[in-house]
Amino acid sequence: MSVTHAPQTADVLARQDPELAEILLGELHRQSSTLQLIAAENFCSPAVLAALGSALANKYAEGYPGARHHGGCEIVDVAERLAVDRAKSLFGAEHANVQSHSGSSAVLAAYAALLRPGDTVLALGLPYGGHLTHGSPANFSGRWFDFVPYGVDAETGLIDHDQVRTLARTHRPKAIVCGSIAYPRHIDYAFFREVADEVGAYLIADAAHPIGLVAGGAAPSPVPYADVVCATTHKVLRGPRGGMILCGGELAERVDRAVFPFTQGGAQMHTIAAKAVAFGEAATPAFAAYAHQVVASARILAAALADEGLVVTTGGTDTHLVTADPGPLGVDGRTARGRLAAAGMVLDCCALPHADTRGLRLGTAAVTTQGMAEKEMERIAALLAGVVRGEVESVRAREEVRDLVGGFPPYPA
Ligand SMILES: *Cc1c(COP(=O)(O)O)cnc(C)c1O
Repeated sequence: MSVTHAPQTADVLARQDPELAEILLGELHRQSSTLQLIAAENFCSPAVLAALGSALANKYAEGYPGARHHGGCEIVDVAERLAVDRAKSLFGAEHANVQSHSGSSAVLAAYAALLRPGDTVLALGLPYGGHLTHGSPANFSGRWFDFVPYGVDAETGLIDHDQVRTLARTHRPKAIVCGSIAYPRHIDYAFFREVADEVGAYLIADAAHPIGLVAGGAAPSPVPYADVVCATTHKVLRGPRGGMILCGGELAERVDRAVFPFTQGGAQMHTIAAKAVAFGEAATPAFAAYAHQVVASARILAAALADEGLVVTTGGTDTHLVTADPGPLGVDGRTARGRLAAAGMVLDCCALPHADTRGLRLGTAAVTTQGMAEKEMERIAALLAGVVRGEVESVRAREEVRDLVGGFPPYPA
């Protein structure tokens, strides 16, 4: 078995540094032998991994194609132009910046492009699924901007549109952010555009989670509505760990300058090449089928969890993401996550709207890449509930997980 899937380096690494090679194999084994239900994770392809492990990692390339601060960029320039062109065509965007090192860096750059320190920004509050970059006091965003949080309806769990409109009229924000780490439903981008227009605010869509569904035509696109779209490339989109920004031509230069030189240095050309590979993959009919299966599986998973007695936030999902309160099964999210981890089921806790306890957040992006579908979701929900209730002990649950994932190797030999 190859330790990195990058053919030119794998054997060398195993020979030169067996200690580290063993760690890589150990992680590959962990990913293959346990159940990956973290909503933000996926298995990128061997081709993406190969680009990440390529000699492009050696290249310094500050600036943009055709205007670099370093020599010898003529080949990596082609790679970045390809990534940009593929992103533009995949998402129907006038401009794409593919240099952001992460989703958070993309959001930082979007703020840098449009805002000044002290500006007022409206965003989904962190207890309702806002990201750290949406105004957490522990993050630059909460320190440098005046965030006003909107929330979700206590009954339905859906974004409270009336509150968004009222807060926008009251606070006249410079920007409105829509996007979440845990919201399982489609976001009504047309609504947010309308409110932003009414109060003269920029609309920033932080589509880090659903952008892969957008690529596959399984979720509405923010591109026609938002001034700036921030995203990651490593969640449902199944590319390398990194970020991306899409915008109209009129903001292109401001966005590019906000990424480099304002918030970043040299572009990571191996990652940008890997993004190009992922965009190429995401443009295929196979990826569209994948994205639709991700949603179909999440719907089944949500329904099966509800049948087992968990309280599913918003009563279901439109996306890859399911959040649920395991409270009726006798434990809170934190305890449930611990029991599930011992059973080899890897997922996250999340805040539950209008509750003191934490819930569970699951996603179907990774298991769908492995080839699992509706039948396996029902099996996962039953096992999960058994483990959370304490009915299935962890040794037996681990065996069942191994049996389940054994049929779906993420990197078949
Ligand atoms: C994942 C995510 C981010 C951050 O991405 P990183 O690559 O972890 O920095 C930002 N915003 C939202 C909404 C996300 O889901």
